[in-house]
Amino acid sequence: MMDFQFQPLSNWGFRNSHPFIIAGPCGVESEEQIHATVRELSKYPIHLLRGGIWKPRTRPDSFQGIGSQGLLWLKDAGKENNLPVMVEVASPKHVEESLKAGIDVLWIGARTTVNPFLVQEIADALKGVDIPVMVKNPINPELELWIGAIERVYKSGVHRIAAIHRGFSAFEKTKYRNVPNWQIPIELKRRFADLPLICDPSHICGNRDMILEVSQTALDLNYDGLMIESHIDPDHALSDAKQQLIPSELGKVLEALVVRQHSTDDVIFLNLLEELRDKIDRMDADLLHMISERMKVAREIGHYKKENNMTILQVERWNEILTTRLQLGINKELTSEFILKLYELIHAESIQQQTKIMNAEKEKVKE
Ligand code: PEP
Ligand code: MN
Repeated sequence: MMDFQFQPLSNWGFRNSHPFIIAGPCGVESEEQIHATVRELSKYPIHLLRGGIWKPRTRPDSFQGIGSQGLLWLKDAGKENNLPVMVEVASPKHVEESLKAGIDVLWIGARTTVNPFLVQEIADALKGVDIPVMVKNPINPELELWIGAIERVYKSGVHRIAAIHRGFSAFEKTKYRNVPNWQIPIELKRRFADLPLICDPSHICGNRDMILEVSQTALDLNYDGLMIESHIDPDHALSDAKQQLIPSELGKVLEALVVRQHSTDDVIFLNLLEELRDKIDRMDADLLHMISERMKVAREIGHYKKENNMTILQVERWNEILTTRLQLGINKELTSEFILKLYELIHAESIQQQTKIMNAEKEKVKE
């Protein structure tokens, strides 16, 4: 594993305050659209302007982006309003053209991060170039692939890197366009504490209504910034019409956000926090003890089933466990989603332990 040293956003050479706000349309559509949007956006505390020039779209007949001509429109709109600008790159040619147009920051999109060959080609095109790069998570919930892309960019010599969390595709219908799976970016942050982390609530939500809620969650998880799509006339936007905010709505979201501090030296607060954390530590020890005791009983059942030549899985029993535990948990103010996940995990572990017992002899035969 390489030793990474990422530059904090405050060293990127841009105006900076917490949280770092990136805003702009999903796609640059015309000179008028980008100028009008940026003029409005510049009334709010924004640090960096986004605009897609080349849009990787799921279906071939969707708007594919305005192409290279939009680079200069975006750059001009930024200059006019004193804002650095960023675009998405999905090939070495995009990198080359963006650099030529004086674009300030590049981002690698979710559909590109999934492809190590393409990321490597982009990283090679970045060798010897000192431009900040943001790497969106891949569309599938795979942390290693995200880290791999960051690693490839880092190895090309770029050290001003940020990760953008834009949610993950899921087959199931959920209230999100892309499910956040917060534990994935949290694990990224745990492994790379100094890697700036930005949340893109627009692509997580897929609609305007939840942008504030998701942005607030991200800030409460100590994200460094937000990337929010904003368009002067979202209802007529050529891509992502449902999720883009008009600039004044974006302003309202920014104003409504509560920015909390990450650390403090307030002794009273710290003492109480420590007390509560001690409580949690003791409870976790009890919890693990109980789970381990439960597994012991499950193993005992495994032996018993084996002696009586019974199958491990007994669906009626599993149904009964789920129904009763759901009710128990709901009565104790736990969400059904959490209880289901918890019991699926516990049940899978019990089955695994019982399978081991059932097949103990077979293992011996193999030896
Ligand atoms: C975008 O930012 O407009 C975009 C295409 O995002 P993603 O790569 O997250 O789908
Ligand atoms: Mn978009």
